Amino acid sequence: MENNYSYIDENLKEINYRIGEAAAKYRKPDDVIRLMGVTKTVLPEAVNYAVSKGIKLLGENRVQEYQSKKELYDKSAEVHFIGHLQSNKVKYIIDSVTLIQSVDSLRLACEIDKLAENKGKIMNILCEVNIGGEQSKSGVMPDKLEELLYAVSELKHVRVNGLMTIPPPSDNEKFLSEMQQLYIDISNKKIHNINMNVLSMGMTGDYVSAIKYGSTLVRIGTGLFGARNYPKK
Ligand SMILES: *Cc1c(COP(=O)(O)O)cnc(C)c1O
Repeated sequence: MENNYSYIDENLKEINYRIGEAAAKYRKPDDVIRLMGVTKTVLPEAVNYAVSKGIKLLGENRVQEYQSKKELYDKSAEVHFIGHLQSNKVKYIIDSVTLIQSVDSLRLACEIDKLAENKGKIMNILCEVNIGGEQSKSGVMPDKLEELLYAVSELKHVRVNGLMTIPPPSDNEKFLSEMQQLYIDISNKKIHNINMNVLSMGMTGDYVSAIKYGSTLVRIGTGLFGARNYPKK
């Protein structure tokens, strides 16, 4: 089959280089920073090409789009759900993703818990924090995070692995830094049943800065796959 995904090779090379450079500058030698390929609007063929080149983690935003693409994906890559998720849609993704990064309410956590219990498994999640306090964005407000975590810690079939955020583009470093501090503060509380191993932050525009502020997982879409061609919602 004819394809020309050499731009993905180029992009991946640059991203890995910049991650390595930022890690060397700002982080401890044994810190691991995972690279996620964010696949919204990307053709499965292009996604699988990236997987063949070493992308072992994919991020999906939209339940419906994921439904239509997942059978076509190379199964060697792990998939996280990263988009806004309604409780009544959890059932469509719970079997095929290994972690849900976008949990921002007890109601959603309870639905995940219920379905995970039915399946006899424990679902890994991150809590999404609206670090900029923006009306238009999902995520729990920073001052409500602790309360949410204590409530979620009671659930037997979900396990919090850490935090996720999409900081505002303006004053970006200030919010990345606040997010790092929040992550450290929560870690220090050592809440029963809550692990703080993952700090998911950094996208195409800010992943180098995010690494400076402690990110353990960067989520890159356009920087890897090129510009998305769909009308923005
Ligand atoms: C789209 C998206 C990304 C990737 O954004 P880019 O700017 O294209 O890298 C990362 N995280 C989430 C939650 C997204 O929705």
